[in-house]
Amino acid sequence: MTDLVYHDVFTKHEMSLGHLESPLRVLHTMSYLKETGLLDIEKIRLVTPKAASFEDVLAVHDRAYLERVKEVSANGGGYFTLDTQANRHTYDAAIIAAGGGVMAVDNILDGVTDNALILCRPPGHHAEPSRAFGFCFINNIAVAANHLIEHRKLERVMIVDYDAHHGNGTQHAFFSTDRVMYVGIHQDGRTLFPGTGFIDEIGVGRGIGYNINVPLYPRAGDKSYGIVFNDVVKQAASSFKPEFILVSAGFDAHLRDPLTSLGLTFNGFAMMNRMLVEMAEKHCNGRLVFFLEGGYDLDVLSKCTKNLLEEIAGEEVKVSEELNVESDHSINRTREIIKAVHSELAEYHF
Ligand SMILES: [Zn+2]
Repeated sequence: MTDLVYHDVFTKHEMSLGHLESPLRVLHTMSYLKETGLLDIEKIRLVTPKAASFEDVLAVHDRAYLERVKEVSANGGGYFTLDTQANRHTYDAAIIAAGGGVMAVDNILDGVTDNALILCRPPGHHAEPSRAFGFCFINNIAVAANHLIEHRKLERVMIVDYDAHHGNGTQHAFFSTDRVMYVGIHQDGRTLFPGTGFIDEIGVGRGIGYNINVPLYPRAGDKSYGIVFNDVVKQAASSFKPEFILVSAGFDAHLRDPLTSLGLTFNGFAMMNRMLVEMAEKHCNGRLVFFLEGGYDLDVLSKCTKNLLEEIAGEEVKVSEELNVESDHSINRTREIIKAVHSELAEYHF
């Protein structure tokens, strides 16, 4: 069974007029999923989440910050940063999104379902312990990973983040622990928000070697991502042996995304999802949860989401064909980056 975790409140949180991280993202995606009949198949179950417990969220965020998000929302909304604003539904949407992740991982561990996609907004991977950032308020994937470690007593949780932007909040949350491995593949921080996620950010203290960044140059495409998954992500998983895999699934690394400059096609996303399913089957009995992060072209977002659901539900993945031939120059630069990642982490995994 595959859970599609979704709540109407995800359509109520709204930022400034014309903001790309808009309710249309999940509205359009849900109607596309319905239109294509994917929600009618028995293997996919639509699940409505509840709010995360304060305790689960406080493992990642400060109480004062959380109370501020709640209060600003209760008062009708307000600015947290120039491009990250709350309205009166933001707190509810954020805490229910986080609750969706916790519910999904619990259901998988309890054998109720096999895997899940949390189709939520606001997204989470930029949210810092005491600060909303980059359209994010509560770090959904970090809350779920912490829940697995603290409450379900797992030893090793792997987070793979293929959103085009570096997951600074997630990296920060687990920078000093060896129980959660973060692997981020993103556009180089010198060319894209949030400006972090470099190769030498490998963790501190017990966490050294458990934070892996692969910053790619603009225009890196399917071939580059294929090599990164084979040579870094799969190898890191074999070395770490995760008991659960969580994925920050942003679809803004697609070549048509308006905010970024990477070059993935639908085929590239399908390949990564396939490999993640294989990794989860190999290491952790298929335990796998995807969290929606970015993705700002509505057509790309809905098609990528549909392909992802098809993959994790074990259906045939029907990919829309697109032509994007990555240059040899781009592939060679990716190989150089991988070499640098391997040498930085040679004594830990490679
Ligand atoms: Zn993003």
